Amino acid sequence: MFDCIIIGTGPAGISAALTLKARGRNFLLIGSASLSGKINAAEEVNNYPGLPAVGGAQLKEAFINHLEQSDISVTPGQVTGVYDMGGYFGVLCGDNSYESKTVILATGVEAVKPVPGESEFLGRGVSYCATCDGLLYKGKKIVVVCTSAAMEEEAEYLSSLAAEVVFVPLYKGARLKGENVRYLVDMPRAIVGDTRVRKVVFSKGEEECDGVFMLKSALAPSALVAGLNAEGGHVVVDRACRTNIAGLFAAGDCTGRPYQYAKAVGEGNVAAHSVCDYLAAKK
Ligand SMILES: Cc1cc2nc3c(=O)[nH]c(=O)nc-3n(C[C@H](O)[C@H](O)[C@H](O)COP(=O)(O)OP(=O)(O)OC[C@H]3O[C@@H](n4cnc5c(N)ncnc54)[C@H](O)[C@@H]3O)c2cc1C
Repeated sequence: MFDCIIIGTGPAGISAALTLKARGRNFLLIGSASLSGKINAAEEVNNYPGLPAVGGAQLKEAFINHLEQSDISVTPGQVTGVYDMGGYFGVLCGDNSYESKTVILATGVEAVKPVPGESEFLGRGVSYCATCDGLLYKGKKIVVVCTSAAMEEEAEYLSSLAAEVVFVPLYKGARLKGENVRYLVDMPRAIVGDTRVRKVVFSKGEEECDGVFMLKSALAPSALVAGLNAEGGHVVVDRACRTNIAGLFAAGDCTGRPYQYAKAVGEGNVAAHSVCDYLAAKK
């Protein structure tokens, strides 16, 4: 069992990992080997102490080097569920599940708002995870809404299973190919069904389907953890980055504005210290 699982490889998660490493804790950092798309995207950062006018790509390299020098590796994957087991947590990530005494959510924020019907039909035709649920749609027709190029690999996997894929990229330059793949450039407006999903309504029409995959680089925190106190899409935390669930902490953009590197790094550090305090108090 891990002392802590950090979910998210942006500045908040990286900062938490560096602090837990320094405190000699046994932890897992789950996210992307290329860290966070938001680090890379910044053209020039002017408010990060000590690094004036640093480019996003340069900052990303600095973070990667710092992790390597600290002997911290990233476990690649997307977490689809965190389960409070009463005293410890179960964390589901693709085909793997892990157990940990504490969890830090450092998942950032997704700019794309949930579509009406998305949470209502979660587990009844709506899925966030190709690896977990793809096989359920073998030979079927699915709609795949993809919010970033980084998630295309999951869409490709789905196209290897489904009979028909209506692919809806919400970004420019999508590259998914396949004889069973049909592109639809439109905005999903609602997911509609009865006991399970039947169709997706778009601005300019609708598509009947057996299932809908919403491939996002960050899920709404409340979709990840049942019973988590969230407001306006942000996790509610106190000054020690504690959530309403004992042993569960949150840091960075996912706790609210300002969306800034320095705030994310600061909260990652605070959350890691709170994890250590929590573990010490439980001993
Ligand atoms: C174009 C642009 C320019 C910016 N410029 C500046 C600037 O100049 N100065 C400044 O201070 N800030 C700037 N920002 C804001 C800054 O990028 C964010 O505030 C910062 O990256 C937040 O860090 P974070 O760790 O909270 O989240 P993120 O950087 O968003 O990282 C979260 C990570 O968690 C991963 N993740 C999410 N859900 C899961 C899951 N379920 N399982 C596994 N991994 C998951 C995501 O894929 C992502 O990699 C800019 C942002 C953008 C987009």
